Amino acid sequence: DKTLHIIGGGMAGSEAAWQAANMGLRVVIHEMRPKVATFAHRTGHLAEMVCSNSFRSDDDEQNAVGLLHWEMRAAGGLIMEMAQKHRLPAGGALAVDRDPFAESVTAALTAHPNVSVDYNEITTLPDTGHWIIATGPLTSEGLGRAIAAETGTDALAFFDAIAPIVYADTIDMSIAWEQSRYDKGETEAEQKAYINCPMTKDQYEAFIDSLLAADKTEFHEGETAGYFDGCLPIEVMAERGRETLRFGPMKPVGLTNPHQPDKKPYAVVQLRRDNALGTLYNIVGFQTKMKYGAQTAVFKMIPGLQDASFARLGGIHRNTFINSPTLLDDQMRLRSRPHIRFAGQITGVEGYVESAAMGLLAGRMAAAEILGHPLISPPQDSAMGALIHHITGGAEAKTFQPMNVNFGLFRPIDGLKGGRRGRKDRYKAYTDRAKAAWTEWLAGSNAMAAQ
Ligand code: FAD
Repeated sequence: DKTLHIIGGGMAGSEAAWQAANMGLRVVIHEMRPKVATFAHRTGHLAEMVCSNSFRSDDDEQNAVGLLHWEMRAAGGLIMEMAQKHRLPAGGALAVDRDPFAESVTAALTAHPNVSVDYNEITTLPDTGHWIIATGPLTSEGLGRAIAAETGTDALAFFDAIAPIVYADTIDMSIAWEQSRYDKGETEAEQKAYINCPMTKDQYEAFIDSLLAADKTEFHEGETAGYFDGCLPIEVMAERGRETLRFGPMKPVGLTNPHQPDKKPYAVVQLRRDNALGTLYNIVGFQTKMKYGAQTAVFKMIPGLQDASFARLGGIHRNTFINSPTLLDDQMRLRSRPHIRFAGQITGVEGYVESAAMGLLAGRMAAAEILGHPLISPPQDSAMGALIHHITGGAEAKTFQPMNVNFGLFRPIDGLKGGRRGRKDRYKAYTDRAKAAWTEWLAGSNAMAAQ
């Protein structure tokens, strides 16, 4: 049977269905709404935007999300086509009129001769056939249990506790230094796995004051139930006592500041390498519910981060996602059951655009495999490739947290200036290289579909 079954008709499932159907495959989308609701969706439409109505920056030369837009458009993406059709004025961002957008995605799919929609919840992992699971951050409980039973509960998370991620080349190393606590580790690289930012008593007190005063986002009702222990937001830790952080993630022990070897720091903020390339670092233990504007202001008070650029800010959200680096192969197939692929936010990407992008890839790769001409995974230099490579291989499995697309995921290009000054030229070079790589992969993928 050459039918492709897709569980979940959200951003990823809708795009996957469109791509596979256009390659000539019969596709069934299994969508539980409107029969079964989630706390965030309001309608029964496919590809409903649950919160913001923006697909973020549309700049395909200076922004990694805009580059993903470009790559999806080049591949005939349905989400981008309908977004363009229902676009609202929003400066450089791709904002849309959400209801007509979702209605037209639904209409395009239901009108497609190769697509049918089955409005039912699926609660078990299928034993046979070809499947893509794209059930998103609010995967229903029954299916969540089935996934946990297959993958092990440790490999399925119900929450993001995202610490902010900083571009390594924007950290001021004349203030910060590389060292693991007590120089732990066998190799020199391990002994220098962390970047440390020292604070004096005055700096620490001022930092705590700002944390306590910062604007915060509230949790949705029912969002935290049961899952929340062990990932307290830093501002909640600070509320429990002014010294809590200094005895927690900011403890100044086991570290010597080479810039001032005689002066013991009062507190230390540690950053840990976040990807194999070493271009991204996360601030250890700094998950937060502070609003984005407040986060930037507060984190720039950390000595060494005064000029930092953030690849992503922190957050804590209800979010079901699997440990893709250990569970999926580079084709997004479940290693233990390769007839099942995963796509969308459940794979550990974050955002409408990233989810749709991973749906696009999963749809094409599944269709190609079913048609007997498997595709290689896309080149790492494209935005699609950088993202899929990160979640299936580049990210640290132990500390895996959902990721937005950003230029820190790209292989550096030799001979370009680093830091803020070189940024514009560097981003242009990344996007040029990405477009060339993606165009080439797409030509191969399209040629296969035409066979
Ligand atoms: P979804 O779009 O959620 O689609 C998954 C689909 O699967 C849903 O239609 C669901 O009904 C269905 N489903 C679930 N379980 C089953 C089952 N067992 N059987 C059949 N169907 C099932 N991203 C942004 O870019 N911007 C934002 O502002 C934003 N705000 C968010 C706010 C909240 C509260 C949440 C939870 C997420 C938010 N996100 C936001 C993330 C956003 O949800 C995703 O980026 C995007 O929708 C993920 O696409 P997806 O296709 O993976 O999942």
